[in-house]
Amino acid sequence: MNRNTKVTIAFAVIFVLVAVGLFRAPAVQDFVLARLATSLAPSAQQDIDGMQVVVCGSASPLGNTMDRAQACIAVLTQEHLFLIDVGARSPTRIAQAQLPLDRLSAVFLTHYHSDHIAGLGDVNLNSWVAGRQHNMQVYGPEGVQTVVDGFNQAYALDRSYRTQHHGEELLPKALGPMRANTLDSGIVWQDESMTVRGFVVDHHPANPTMGYRFDYQGRSVVISGDTNATDELFAAAQGADLLFHDALARHLLNVLQQTMRDSGRSNVAQLIGDVTDYHADSLTLEDAAKAADIKQLVLYHLVPTPMNAMTENLFLRGLSDEVILAHDLQVFELSAQSETITIRP
Ligand SMILES: [Zn+2]
Ligand SMILES: [Zn+2]
Repeated sequence: MNRNTKVTIAFAVIFVLVAVGLFRAPAVQDFVLARLATSLAPSAQQDIDGMQVVVCGSASPLGNTMDRAQACIAVLTQEHLFLIDVGARSPTRIAQAQLPLDRLSAVFLTHYHSDHIAGLGDVNLNSWVAGRQHNMQVYGPEGVQTVVDGFNQAYALDRSYRTQHHGEELLPKALGPMRANTLDSGIVWQDESMTVRGFVVDHHPANPTMGYRFDYQGRSVVISGDTNATDELFAAAQGADLLFHDALARHLLNVLQQTMRDSGRSNVAQLIGDVTDYHADSLTLEDAAKAADIKQLVLYHLVPTPMNAMTENLFLRGLSDEVILAHDLQVFELSAQSETITIRP
């Protein structure tokens, strides 16, 4: 080791020791904390050109990783914020993405498997605290009233404590409960700039399950919900800019299933076998998306949920480089009246 290297290391050690020592001083701790709080506070809302789609959950229940929340997609414009499904851990992603819950337009549920509704109570509470000016509207196919009534009942005491504690002005009692809206296929929500269409998909025995299409300023995004690949879905998605489709990698599941059988875990092996008949085989989607003139196919609600980059590569086996695997907090920007799709990160 030459003299220069020794001097550099000595300075580095002294710097670390001084930094550690300084951080023990209350004034320095308070300064760092204040900087941290500033960085976490929601930044001023930036103008949105066209439509943004944010992935607030890309996992399925099969497989367990904290890197991915369960199913949740956000559609954001200058005037709207829609959440499509709110699975477990998605409220954390919604907060990380700093989505403007104070102006949440509505939540659309595709169906009532727990991995699509588990975050409903937190989203209702967080948007109420954020200053939402109306009751949270929850849309979904038949069954949505049962789900909403159950959440409202389970959170009734929580709401009453919070209004008593923080006051009627901050948390008005009347805006606490969410409201259910039962949907059929067709146009399910519309204003002068946004049209939302619902269509029935195939996720038996979870009947009915719906997918949704959002059209805004010449741009469009379709979210499949949980389903097999169906002709009806690709007809509804015809010409869309983005299609988020649930996907199941059969080659991975086959290996998992055999491993479970070999290790005597026959109940898990059967569960794995059962899910294959109600999610879309990843290898069937790319050709169908091309035939429907969809500009970008994005796979989400990944079955099984990839744990790392290696399993993501395995998941994509048999697909071209044009297909994208969704990641939590990924943002897709669709500028108004254009063809561009910008993906971050
Ligand atoms: Zn499902
Ligand atoms: Zn699901």
